[in-house]
Order: sequence, then C-alpha cells, then structure tokens
Amino acid sequence: MKNVWEEARHNLRLAAEAMNLEPEILNRLSTPMRFLEFTIPVRLDDGRKEIFTAYRSWHQDATGPAKDGTRVKPDLTPEEIKALSLFMSIKHAVAGIPAGGGKGGIKADPSKLSEGEYERLIRGFMRRLAPKGAWVDVPGADLGTGPRAMAWMLDEYEQMAGFHSPAAVSDKPFELGGSRGGFEATGWGVAFCADRAARELGLKGSRVAVQGFGQVGSVAAASLKEMGYKIVAVSDFHGAVADPAGLDIPALLRHVAETGRAPGFPGASAARGDILECDCEILIPAAVQDVVTAANADRLKARLVVEAANAPVSPEADELLRKRGVCLVPDVVANCGGAIVCDFERAQGLANDYWPLETVRAKLRERILAAYEESKAKSRETGVSLRLGAWVNALARIRAAMAWRGWN
Ligand code: NAD
Repeated sequence: MKNVWEEARHNLRLAAEAMNLEPEILNRLSTPMRFLEFTIPVRLDDGRKEIFTAYRSWHQDATGPAKDGTRVKPDLTPEEIKALSLFMSIKHAVAGIPAGGGKGGIKADPSKLSEGEYERLIRGFMRRLAPKGAWVDVPGADLGTGPRAMAWMLDEYEQMAGFHSPAAVSDKPFELGGSRGGFEATGWGVAFCADRAARELGLKGSRVAVQGFGQVGSVAAASLKEMGYKIVAVSDFHGAVADPAGLDIPALLRHVAETGRAPGFPGASAARGDILECDCEILIPAAVQDVVTAANADRLKARLVVEAANAPVSPEADELLRKRGVCLVPDVVANCGGAIVCDFERAQGLANDYWPLETVRAKLRERILAAYEESKAKSRETGVSLRLGAWVNALARIRAAMAWRGWN
C-alpha cells in the first residue's frame, strides 16, 4: 500500500463490500466532509518569522461533533490527517460514542522549537482554526502534543469565546477539567481486550511480548502483568530486553524513567533477534505502523496479536496471519480506549461532574469489551475477520445516523 490514507480507504472498501454499503455512502465516506489547510505565522526567539502549515480534517459529523487529536511532526502529510480522521469516525462508532471523526496537525518539529516558540505555534493553531466548541469540533492531543499544549489550546479557545468551556478541548490537565485516567486509557483498553481474547483462546496467563514501551505499551504491559500474564520481552526504539521467567514491569518502568531506555535493565537479557518473532503466545505491537508485513508475518510465533499502535499489521500480513489461524484484535477496537475516555472527559466537562479513577477504569472496561463483543458478533454474522467485523459495525452505525438525517 502506498500510504496510510490508501490503507484506510482499502479497509473502508472491504467493509463496504462485506455489508453491501450503498455506493453513495461509500463515496461520501471516502473523502473528508471538510478539509482545511492553513498557515500559522510564528515569531521565533531570534526575531525571524516562520510560517508553519497546519491541517484539520472533519471526516463526518453525522454521528456527532467531530472529535480528536492534534499531531505535530516534521513529516506530517495531509493524507495522514485525512486517514486519521477516518479512523476516528470508525473508532467512535465502534465504541458507540456519539461523535464524528476529526483530526488536526501541524507540520513542525517540536524538538527544534523553544518552549516559547512551541507555545506560540499551538496558540496560533487554535486562533487560526477557531473551532466552534464542545458541540461542533473538539480538538485533543496526539503525537507531538500533550496536556501542556491542550491547556494552551483551551485557554486560547476560552479567551476567544469569552466563557469557560472545559468540554471544548480534550486531553487537558485535571485541574482544567481533564479526566482521571486519560494517560492510562489506551493501554488499559489494550490490556482488557488482550485478556478477553486470550481467555477465549485458552491463553489466560500466557507469555506476552510488547513492542514499544511508551504511554500505551508500558501501561498495557503493567496491566497484563497485574492480571497474571508473563511479560517475556519488551522493546523500545533503542532495543529489546527479555526474561523467559517474566520481566519485573514496575522495576523496568523505573529503569526507563531513570535512563530513558529499556536496554541495560538489570536482571534481563538483551533480546535475541526481532521481538516480533520471539517465543510468546500474545504479541502487542505498540510502537509504529506497518511493522508486521508480508516479509515477516509467517515468522511470528504468537497465536494472538493485539494492535495497540495504529495499523501495525499491513493488509497483506493481515491476510497471511488469518490463513495461519492467528487471532488479531484490530486497532480500531484494541486502542479505542483513549477515544472512550476522551468522550468521558467531554461528558464530565459538560455536566461539571468529575469521576474518580476507579469509575473511569470500570466504565472504560465495560465500554471497550462491549465494542469487542459487538465487533466479534458482527464478524461471525458476516463471515469476515474481526477487523472487518468492527468496520462493518461502525459503518452500519454511521449509515444509520446519515439515513436518519436524510443524508443517504
Ligand atoms: P510513545 O511515544 O509514548 O511511545 C512509543 C514507544 O515506541 C517508545 O517506547 C519508543 O521508543 C518505541 N518505538 C518507536 N519506534 C520503535 C521501533 N521501531 N521499534 C520498537 N519500539 C519503537 O507513543 P504511545 O502514545 O505509546 O503510542 C504508541 C502507538 O500507539 C503509536 O502508534 C500511536 O499512534 C498509537 N496510539 C496511541 C494512543 C494514545 O492514546 N497514546 C491511542 C491510539 C493509538
């Protein structure tokens, strides 16, 4: 596949075929409803002015306000933003969240900007975008942004609006109306799905390998260890560590916090070979896209793959794994925990009623496992993979919302 936008539309077409989606609806969903490219002039610390390119894609809003993150990276493309907005439509619909799909981004390298330059860039993004608030368009965080940037975005929005509106921006700090559990949400969701699928396969308590030990991978590994699984290998950008007896995840987290890398963790060996091919029953790719491809799919030993990252398994590899009977929990189900808690965050902000961490975790578990079960039921009913089952379920919900509105 050429790029992530093509991959996203490939899945869309396959699901549309499996459910006989009307061609008009497929056409409408094959392009974002609206796409904006704009510029942000930023005064640099040395007095020069630099112009940055930014995007916001509203894939569809039949199902509710367009919601989701803002990505800042130097090689950002409009296609990536379009694909991610389509994924958000699907993830929200998979999880039964009454929201449409949105995504924004800025083509910039945050590591090359001072804090002041970065703040001016983020505030400039919000001023130029001028989103219409909690009932229309709700930006949140993604790669290259986080609670600090979301606090500036919310402040900028509220200055423009002239009133407080915590539900207008997601992923903000708790003190500004953010939700408890926002950081852990995606990793927890991955662990809940992995555990449910593992029990079904008779793999409860078996060996797990996790590629990527950041926000998602580390929380998923820690949760699965707490649930009784043996985390036998973990990798990050710098390399991998392994222990056939099971890694001490809390100690590994402390080691990574101190040294910035997983390799060198005392008590573990450096993993031999590629972590994706190591001896384990459950593999969790939680780093980047397209790591399992036609070139290595046949060498995977895992019987269950849980896609924590977005699109870590290529469509070609997906087919090869399916033929070998490997069970795959797709990204739109496995990693939708962040989207679910963003929806909780908006609900808490609108109601001015903030929930304790345990409530967020329990509601997330209930919601993501329902998404998993509904996707599975649809995949059985339609005779397709769990990935397509999830997409078919989501598209049926979007189609229904469009039909009720008379958009079909
Ligand atoms: P992160 O930046 O916190 O962590 C990424 C981890 O992957 C780091 O440990 C990094 O060292 C490692 N890594 C990078 N390249 C690697 C490689 N080639 N091999 C092995 N490890 C590598 O990111 P995150 O928030 O944990 O997100 C991980 C993935 O999940 C991303 O693809 C992201 O798009 C996706 N995702 C994240 C969320 C979320 O809520 N954070 C939600 C949905 C999807």
